Amino acid sequence: MSKMIAILPGDGIGPEIVAEAVKVLNALQQHFGLDLELQEALVGGAAIDATGQPLPKETLDLAKRADAVLLGAVGGPKWESLDISMRPEKGLLGLRSELGLFANLRPALLFPELVDASTLKPEVVAGLDILIVRELTGGIYFGKPRGIRTLENGEKEGFNTLVYRESEIVRIARVAFEAARQRQKRVCSVDKANVLEATEFWRQVVIKVGQEYPDVELSHLYVDNAAMQLVRYPKQFDVMVTTNMFGDILSDLASMLTGSIGMLPSASLDANQKGMYEPIHGSAPDIAGQNVANPLATILSVAMMLRYSLREAALADAVERAVQQVLREGLRTRDILGSGNYTLVSTSEMGEAVLKSLKQLA
Ligand code: NAD
Repeated sequence: MSKMIAILPGDGIGPEIVAEAVKVLNALQQHFGLDLELQEALVGGAAIDATGQPLPKETLDLAKRADAVLLGAVGGPKWESLDISMRPEKGLLGLRSELGLFANLRPALLFPELVDASTLKPEVVAGLDILIVRELTGGIYFGKPRGIRTLENGEKEGFNTLVYRESEIVRIARVAFEAARQRQKRVCSVDKANVLEATEFWRQVVIKVGQEYPDVELSHLYVDNAAMQLVRYPKQFDVMVTTNMFGDILSDLASMLTGSIGMLPSASLDANQKGMYEPIHGSAPDIAGQNVANPLATILSVAMMLRYSLREAALADAVERAVQQVLREGLRTRDILGSGNYTLVSTSEMGEAVLKSLKQLA
């Protein structure tokens, strides 16, 4: 049965990198028998310019109907002076909340060919393959009450609420355990159970869910230690699962272990594995329209879409192998050029090279 994919290129380099990912989706249809229907829509600044809204109703309806969403990036200086409620980023947040995308999956995978792109020593990061599972719609970023208030003595205070319901922890823990089953079968849950009751409860619930997965090894770390371990010996981790705020911080940290923002994909999933897939980087207005952006994070986001929403693990592997092959051949966009003897290629040349090596795998 045909699967419908909503294609939302967005702003800045978004349309350039998404165009290369769409070529990959088309090649998967032509050469690997995948049955897809691609439908494009506006989001972010491009949607504001055309309709006055960062997330027009037609786009939201399309995303809701779709089996998966591929997003480029949103935002840019052109829209920065708008009221915060009307900025391009609202389009992204609106999609996440309207689609119920509570699980954010961010792999930090270092291709051996890019080992010298990391700021850490090669022996620390070579072979790195971590998946961070971050809770995305709960915790302190959403908890109420919140605000800034004036006390009786006239002093002001800011306050937020860290709250997690059992069902919220259960569903994110399940995502982590299921993902671990497809990988090295190890989950490390990160909390601050020694200080915060909400995360003491988090730990209790994760342990309970873990009993349903006796084949997966479960460990726990306090977040301060987890941050240290990620830099000291990151290869000890397989899947890490954590709260919204801890995941926000740790996933950025982990992404930099791999050296390049242009290489890292992400997935945000709902309860039925429907997802929105996007590179972790933004719209890079400084290089937009120059055909120099790295399209590999977006192409690798397609691989995640194949794995998690379309349940086509073999095709996901093929896309990842095709990417690795072009890196092995020494092709590099500007952001991953480094100092070696590599061939500098444009966005579209990189996309074409991935297509060529993908077709060879058919
Ligand atoms: P950015 O990620 O867009 O860019 C940071 C730096 O990385 C820039 O130097 C850029 O040229 C480079 N870069 C990013 N992606 C690249 C790629 N694929 N290939 C080569 N180089 C790449 O972050 P920023 O500059 O802080 O933000 C720019 C805009 O993007 C802002 O409007 C911001 O709000 C928005 N943004 C959107 C998202 C999203 O859509 N998910 C995420 C982050 C930022």
